[in-house]
Amino acid sequence: MQLTSKIYINLLIFTISQARVLKYDYTDGCQLSEQIKNEIASYKDVKDQILDYVIDGEFKGKTYEELAKFVDKFGARPSGSKVLERSIDYMIELTKSEGLDDITTEELTVPHWVRGKEKVTMLEPLYKNLAVLGLGRSVSTPPEGITAEVIVVKDFDELEKVDESYIRGKIVLYDPIFTTYGDTVLYRTNGASRAASKGAVASLVRSITPFSINSPHTGSQTYDEGVPKIPTAAITLEDADLVRRMYDRGEKIVLNVKLSSKYNEKTSRNTLIDLKGSEQPKKLVIVSGHIDSWDVGQGAMDDGGGMFVSWAAPVILKRLNLTPKRTIRTIFWTAEELGLIGAKAYEEKHRNESSNINFIMESDEGTFAPLGLAVGGSQEARCIVGEILKLFESINATELIEEDNPGSDISVITETGVPGASLYNANERYFWFHHTEGDMMNVESPEELDLGAAFWTAVAYIVADLSVDIPRQVQN
Ligand SMILES: [Zn+2]
Repeated sequence: MQLTSKIYINLLIFTISQARVLKYDYTDGCQLSEQIKNEIASYKDVKDQILDYVIDGEFKGKTYEELAKFVDKFGARPSGSKVLERSIDYMIELTKSEGLDDITTEELTVPHWVRGKEKVTMLEPLYKNLAVLGLGRSVSTPPEGITAEVIVVKDFDELEKVDESYIRGKIVLYDPIFTTYGDTVLYRTNGASRAASKGAVASLVRSITPFSINSPHTGSQTYDEGVPKIPTAAITLEDADLVRRMYDRGEKIVLNVKLSSKYNEKTSRNTLIDLKGSEQPKKLVIVSGHIDSWDVGQGAMDDGGGMFVSWAAPVILKRLNLTPKRTIRTIFWTAEELGLIGAKAYEEKHRNESSNINFIMESDEGTFAPLGLAVGGSQEARCIVGEILKLFESINATELIEEDNPGSDISVITETGVPGASLYNANERYFWFHHTEGDMMNVESPEELDLGAAFWTAVAYIVADLSVDIPRQVQN
């Protein structure tokens, strides 16, 4: 499947919005009535009940335990794979075992990119194998690989300055130093086509991470229309820096790049779990995470943890017999990693009823200790959420970060004007493990998952139960 320009634009919007994280002082400029402030404050007891149950009570350790069982049973769950579908079936059964039966799946066509053998060998000036991971949707090299000289550029500006005649027939290595994910990831997502447009025969990228123990990081990339599709892969920080040092010394570097993969399309499903609201069941507060993962590691962090705190919300509320006025809908998105495919299908299918979405939440940036929420929507929406966050001082999760389109999957929906939030957490180490073999259960902590699940559940409950809707931006 060709990547449509819409997907490209969405990726762009996502990465731009990532870069514009501002702290939002919700106490200034908010004009909430005393009535709504008092109403929000009155949720203290129910919030305590949820926190106690999850952090110190019967649910303690449950989120970690269930996540571990899940990722140990299925491992990586790439888009279009049979194992992903089996893992969806498993989650449905697990949810039913908690007495939640209102479960719907929605089918859609998803990309299925399957990695084959991959090997990158430096032939000159030193013989050395480089650790490598091909990037999503990369085409294969011929079986004998591509052998060519390397040219190293730190960014697109530098690439543009190099004469085409010098790039033609060579392998381009991008070695951008990680700043933010949003800024640096462009070399992974667009690097191949940019290099191919100047005649390169393959492209490599320094893994998008601030830290490495020689671990390559995979991820999606997209080919532009009308440009030759060249094989593309990520190498480690260590190897990229090695090549850079040699290059700066003026040494001739020759690599042999062998990549192989298969690509087709399959059917997968988004999974919707509803805890029906007592007064306004059509109105939704959505909590979500994606169930697919990359084909390396266990996808425990990305996004097993996010999916499981979203799974926990209706489970905990059901166990505590807490039914909010509006419906809480948990969504496990499918095929996030290859371009938010599940979220786009959901948005399209439910476009006519999108006015029913009161608030949409996503956890896909780690489930380390929760700190608060990254919130998008009208000023009044941010003020209400900020007021709710004041309730979470006991667990240090009161911060409100302003982000126009928070999250990954949900950005598809928030950019249509629906207010939403993503879990803001102490995820400084997130990109160390992101899209690597190291995304294993070891990254997760039972205590942090308890805090995350408790926080996520309590916020969703309060938003879903308030007497007022979360106000949308006034459309001009
Ligand atoms: Zn993710």
